Amino acid sequence: MNIHEYQAKELLAKYGIGIPAGHAATTVEEAVEGAKKLPGPLYVVKAQIHAGGRGKGTFKELGPDAKGGVRLAKSVEDVESNARDMLGNTLVTVQTGEAGKQVNRLYVTDGVDIAREYYLSMLVDRATGRVAMIVSTEGGMDIEQVAHDTPEKITTITIDPAQGFMPHHGRAVAFALKLTGDLNKQAQKLAKQLYTAFMDLDCAMLEINPLVETEDGKLLVLDTKMSFDSNALYRHPDVEAMRDETEEDPAEVEASEYDLAYIKLDGNIGCMVNGAGLAMATMDIIKLNGAFPANFLDVGGGANREKVTAAFKIILKDPAVEGILVNIFGGIMKCDVIADGIVAAAKDVNLSVPLVVRLEGTNVEQGKDILNNSGLPIVSADDLGDAARKIVAEVKQAA
Ligand code: GDP
Ligand code: MG
Repeated sequence: MNIHEYQAKELLAKYGIGIPAGHAATTVEEAVEGAKKLPGPLYVVKAQIHAGGRGKGTFKELGPDAKGGVRLAKSVEDVESNARDMLGNTLVTVQTGEAGKQVNRLYVTDGVDIAREYYLSMLVDRATGRVAMIVSTEGGMDIEQVAHDTPEKITTITIDPAQGFMPHHGRAVAFALKLTGDLNKQAQKLAKQLYTAFMDLDCAMLEINPLVETEDGKLLVLDTKMSFDSNALYRHPDVEAMRDETEEDPAEVEASEYDLAYIKLDGNIGCMVNGAGLAMATMDIIKLNGAFPANFLDVGGGANREKVTAAFKIILKDPAVEGILVNIFGGIMKCDVIADGIVAAAKDVNLSVPLVVRLEGTNVEQGKDILNNSGLPIVSADDLGDAARKIVAEVKQAA
């Protein structure tokens, strides 16, 4: 789960981490109120969307010459006109895709006099099973570009969670950022605070770009992106409350309401499967047969008619879907019960694309009979390979 910049900064501030003062606003009036509470004379008005690259972004409604989604303002009136310019409009950045994202919220912050910009991020490194802290002196830039052009300017420090954050990790971070004196000490302290926050909050990723050195010698988090391990959210109701569903894929939000694990992908074959492992295998075998899955969808062990119907509806909302492959192992649920659910759901949604169903497990013969006698154009398959071949062929034929 992702959160907004202003929310992430609120969380980091609780760990003693330095951030510029700021206030979130959903209206022009609130933006002005927020600015009045700040010392001035420099303010920053920042669009709050779940995507980076806002500064270099463009507003669809304002044309290519207008300023982006992060704007410096030199007076409260300036904050007001920039807020009016941004709120309700659609910001397109390198991370939003062409459609862009509507700006419904702003963050008005104290403007900082920047001496230098740095980069620092943390993530769970699956290869080492450790937390990686990635730092670079090249802050404020696209880090993928830095990694490509000048990989020597990026340092990765790994921290063994069993051992925890040690003083040498902090020294390595400060050294990689080429900091001396008091700034070096600040960086060591900051790295430890960030590690503590990352572990405490069950983060999946935390990126600070840029981390800045101010003209008066302070390290501040100027921009941050934070995402959390969804499976650990139950431990953090305060973080869960920060979820902004308007920023998420509507189909994924709907799926989570039915307790379906759904992730949209780029292909044209919708998949409905029970069990994550079987879902992965199904996607693999679709690819092996020359097509691409439109989604990952795990209906879970106790899939009933209601869940199957919801799953069909969610899959069919994706205009790219040209066929559906249902691959279900009837273990806890018997195949005849599942077949009943599939037939009912297919009728319910007026299924308009080819449907191939592979059932295996308890009462599989009864299940197949139900599908074959349903009067619906459901193609029944014998095994996983057969199912994938059939759906790919059906979709090709329909095209
Ligand atoms: P992003 O474009 O979505 O990554 O948004 P950022 O918050 O990183 O802002 C983009 C850029 O705007 C930063 O890299 C800074 O150069 C600039 N910026 C943001 N806040 C301030 C500020 O307080 N003072 C100054 N001088 N520049 C800022
Ligand atoms: Mg940034």
